Amino acid sequence: MARRAVIIGAGITGSLVAWRLARAGWNVTVVEARHVGAGSSSRTAAGIRQQFSTPETVLGMRFAVDFYRRFREEVGGDTVPIVQNGYLFLYALQEDWDAAKYRVQMQQACGLDDVAALEVQALVERFPWVDRHAVLGGTFCPTDGFLRPETVYNEAIAAARRLGADIVQNAPVTGVEASGGRIDAVLTPKGRFPADLVFDCTNAWSPRLAQVLGATPLPIAPRKRYLWMVERAGSMTGPELAAMPLTVSPSGAYCRPENEDSLLMGWAHDAPEEPAFTYEDQDRIEEAFFHRSGPDSYGYATWMSLAEVLPPIGEFAGITATTGGYYAVTPDHNPFLGYDPAVANLVRLVGFSGHGAMFGPFTARVAEALAEAGRDVATIDLLGHAAELETFRIGRRYGHGEKLVI
Ligand SMILES: Cc1cc2nc3c(=O)[nH]c(=O)nc-3n(C[C@H](O)[C@H](O)[C@H](O)COP(=O)(O)OP(=O)(O)OC[C@H]3O[C@@H](n4cnc5c(N)ncnc54)[C@H](O)[C@@H]3O)c2cc1C
Repeated sequence: MARRAVIIGAGITGSLVAWRLARAGWNVTVVEARHVGAGSSSRTAAGIRQQFSTPETVLGMRFAVDFYRRFREEVGGDTVPIVQNGYLFLYALQEDWDAAKYRVQMQQACGLDDVAALEVQALVERFPWVDRHAVLGGTFCPTDGFLRPETVYNEAIAAARRLGADIVQNAPVTGVEASGGRIDAVLTPKGRFPADLVFDCTNAWSPRLAQVLGATPLPIAPRKRYLWMVERAGSMTGPELAAMPLTVSPSGAYCRPENEDSLLMGWAHDAPEEPAFTYEDQDRIEEAFFHRSGPDSYGYATWMSLAEVLPPIGEFAGITATTGGYYAVTPDHNPFLGYDPAVANLVRLVGFSGHGAMFGPFTARVAEALAEAGRDVATIDLLGHAAELETFRIGRRYGHGEKLVI
């Protein structure tokens, strides 16, 4: 009889893991507290980049970009979920620019051949909307870009269903039956689901779910993040806007096209840890961040910070929307991908620190390897390279944190 996997949470992580395990022959049940995409996966900027400071993540995101390009053939559906406009990081301080150029060498050594460090002349020739006096240079990778997240989770769930997976919505996990340090069954108001292997794919909810599962408490802080939509004006044409890469200013404010008429912006800001946030809190907009609060709001500060390096954007018509959602932040901004030390048949795939949409295919690949092995593994093969998994292990030391966090 096929082994039974119960996957808790149906965001990008849970849906891709469900598809991957169903394809590998597991008998898969997904239990989701609300509905598919009820969490951060429907509230994300969905950037995907291979430009990271951690070599394993560069490799993992190369795998993810390749997977998302082949998504229709592998998973199904009509839409390619990745828009490869590239990612452009801009730098204004010599120290930061030197470090960025050094990182590019590391990324190239990890096989990311198309990333380049552009000195200011080459940069403004390629991207004339960058103010040459505001930056020293930038790193650009044309195969980076952003995702259509709803395509990812909806198509992955549909594909998992076609492979026989059972998707149970409105089924919050409220308890478990456990014996001998293992979970025998997962309990929800919609029924009892026996399991050989359980996957925690609840990201920002994971600290709370851990208590229900009797799992190890992991240092994951749910923190609010906002996005704003800005309406285009005549300073850029629609096609020019639609072709823009996801651009990160020296301040860390970032933007990317949503379509020919709208620019999406974000900026990491201080946010308290909210361990008990509710589903409704995801869409609660604090006054200081709400664009209708006027020019003193954080949305306007983000817009103006981008305008300092991207002058045509400063001439756009105005902010039209503010949205929110939760990051699940870990001490080193790397996720936890591994077996729980306290529960022998529980795999935690959580703590994505603002990177979970792009991590999805890599996470699912790791999940499959862990399921096959029945224990943590040191490396997995990705694109012909051995990717080290120590960076993502539960219980690791937090010495080598990811430096490129936005
Ligand atoms: C503003 C913002 C910008 C972002 N930008 C990017 C970006 O540019 N690139 C990127 O890669 N990532 C980005 N992220 C992060 C990314 O969205 C997340 O890391 C990713 O969506 C996590 O997916 P997930 O499936 O792991 O979790 P989620 O999508 O949050 O799904 C978790 C699911 O678990 C369910 N659940 C919770 N508790 C239970 C329970 N007890 N029982 C059953 N089900 C339960 C929830 O209902 C939810 O559906 C951003 C996030 C935000 C908020």
